[in-house]
Amino acid sequence: MTDTAAPLTDTDPAGDDLSANPLLSGATPIPFHEIAAEHVVPAFRAALERAQAELDALIAGEGARTYENTIAALDEVGDRLTAVTRPVSHLMSVRNEPDLRAAYETVLPEVSSFFARLPLNPEVWAAVKEYAQTDEARALTGVRRRHVDKTVRAFVRAGADLPVEQKKRVEELRVELSRLSTEFANHVLDSTNAWDLVLTDEADLEGLPDSARAQARAAAQARGVEGWRFTLQVPSYQPFMQYSARRDLRERMYRAYMNRASSGEHDNRPRVGRILELRRELAGILGFKDYADYTLEDSMAGSGDRAVRFEEDLAARTRPVWEREMAALEVFARDELGITPFEAWDVSYTTERLRLARYDLDAEVLRPYFPLDRVLEGLWELTRQVFGVQVRPRELREVWHPDVGFFDVLDEDGAQLGSFYVDWFPRESKRGGAWMGGLHTGGPRPDGWDAHLATVVCNVSPPDGDRPALLTHREVETVFHEFGHLLHHVLSRVEVPALAGTNVPSDWVELPSQIMENWTWERPALDLFARHWQTGEPIPEALFAKMVAARKFMGAWHQMRQLSFGTVDLDLHVRFDPSRDADPIVRAQQVMAQFSPYPRFADDHFITSFAHIFSGGYAAGYYSYLWSAVLEADAFSRFQREGLFSREVGRDFVDHVLSQGDAEDPAVLFRRFMGRDPDPEALLRRDLDLSLLEN
Ligand SMILES: [Zn+2]
Repeated sequence: MTDTAAPLTDTDPAGDDLSANPLLSGATPIPFHEIAAEHVVPAFRAALERAQAELDALIAGEGARTYENTIAALDEVGDRLTAVTRPVSHLMSVRNEPDLRAAYETVLPEVSSFFARLPLNPEVWAAVKEYAQTDEARALTGVRRRHVDKTVRAFVRAGADLPVEQKKRVEELRVELSRLSTEFANHVLDSTNAWDLVLTDEADLEGLPDSARAQARAAAQARGVEGWRFTLQVPSYQPFMQYSARRDLRERMYRAYMNRASSGEHDNRPRVGRILELRRELAGILGFKDYADYTLEDSMAGSGDRAVRFEEDLAARTRPVWEREMAALEVFARDELGITPFEAWDVSYTTERLRLARYDLDAEVLRPYFPLDRVLEGLWELTRQVFGVQVRPRELREVWHPDVGFFDVLDEDGAQLGSFYVDWFPRESKRGGAWMGGLHTGGPRPDGWDAHLATVVCNVSPPDGDRPALLTHREVETVFHEFGHLLHHVLSRVEVPALAGTNVPSDWVELPSQIMENWTWERPALDLFARHWQTGEPIPEALFAKMVAARKFMGAWHQMRQLSFGTVDLDLHVRFDPSRDADPIVRAQQVMAQFSPYPRFADDHFITSFAHIFSGGYAAGYYSYLWSAVLEADAFSRFQREGLFSREVGRDFVDHVLSQGDAEDPAVLFRRFMGRDPDPEALLRRDLDLSLLEN
């Protein structure tokens, strides 16, 4: 067990009273209720000091190099440090108070720099290499073999083996890339905030629902202006594009949105080219053909070219359905809405109107059938039947907010596997969105089972007076999704924490989460939990039929959109060569045009605000959203065939996927579960309306 080692206070010099510092207590459960801003700086510095001392001891290394005193010891340096820092970074997401943030920001750079320097430390690298050449290392098999190989590769990828001059250049490139991507993100943010549309005549709001009007009214009041204020933030922009009946205003919003950060003081155009150029240089120095090959070396796709082929294949299969959807949309716009010629700013609006005409399905009508407590009971029941896992609530005082719940996860025989916190509802000081976060990665250890610990955080609709929390179907999917990540974490049986749980390639990590969403679309699974909160009635058959019918609506359009982003991303990181090719902005427009019904739809500068790939960690990795979707749809088809609640299929999924982390090549894990390689057919069948191809 790495996190619960002796408290740091034993070795620490006098000064701050570290013995009373809850971050250093090593106590379980983590005393979240006691952690305050004043604990952060002294705890982080004490942990850093200890980490440095441990690193020095590792380098000095008495006796022969072994897995334990070199590889495992190196992992433990990092694990013990993050055991102190992670509870605080978690609090930054769920209890982001000014004094806590100030303290965190004071010491965060010191922690980041410790981890950044690690793979460039020549003495640590020498120790790792020395071990890798021992007979013991050569004889390793299984997960330890994989881990040593990956550790060696991590040093090489960081540039540890390069001559001094090139090493210096690599560092320069990383520093500049990091600066450029921060600037890129800031410019997107600033240009998003620099624009608004203030309407003072209520007639201009035609088509907008009450919620969008109220939000815009509040936004205007907050600014001290008259009327209704719309912005380029997604919660304001999206409903406007979906509902506003005013074409002229939609056009203004659309053009402003698509041209963010592409002119004036927030212009990202020069940054796009520069980032691509530096990434290419970095990949070249490190011995890769292009930046995609460098980034994807350890992914399931393995190389940029393979990811490109994946996108091309899926696009070719999606295109015929997409063409029919677009044609139907254009006809509906012309005949029913009088819109002609069809333009990019008409797509969302027309889609919404066509959805209404065809399905008359309002997401709100399903809410009464999804009270959160019942949804959870159903989810636990499903998990018990399929995966043989029991979830049991436990009273816990040591939490960061009274809303927070705590659960234990037990196997079929009642043995404890791990625990998790849940935090469901929005709060002022809480980050938006939903996520699962590991607090401790356990698993089998020489002295027995080390329990996993994690958090599941969402922002679903809260209770209202006497009414319980009632979820939309999308929110139910989100809860299932995050619980899938949780299962991946707590069911891990991998002995090496660095390769355990969700520490897997990014094109594999969404398989366990996304697959869970499928059950929320199956009647027998819904019947476990979807009951009207007042009458106890299940979802009426007619309503369920509508829900299922609407599921594939514009499915190809959504898929092509994802494919367009993934293709642009890969094109810029694989094929585009800044030293040879024209402007990357023009290049991106050319690629996007292939995914548009008319080339003019791609005339804008969306690439200058494509933060995913220029500042968000998805560079050459956007394809992984759909890659994961192919895997989960395909894997779920086995449950559909052999039984939605099949314990046998569930056991296979636990044995080959959920418990395995990155212990083996994910392609091998997938093959063990399915008996073959992934097939995109299941995704196409599930998400696209293939009947459109019949006439
Ligand atoms: Zn996810």
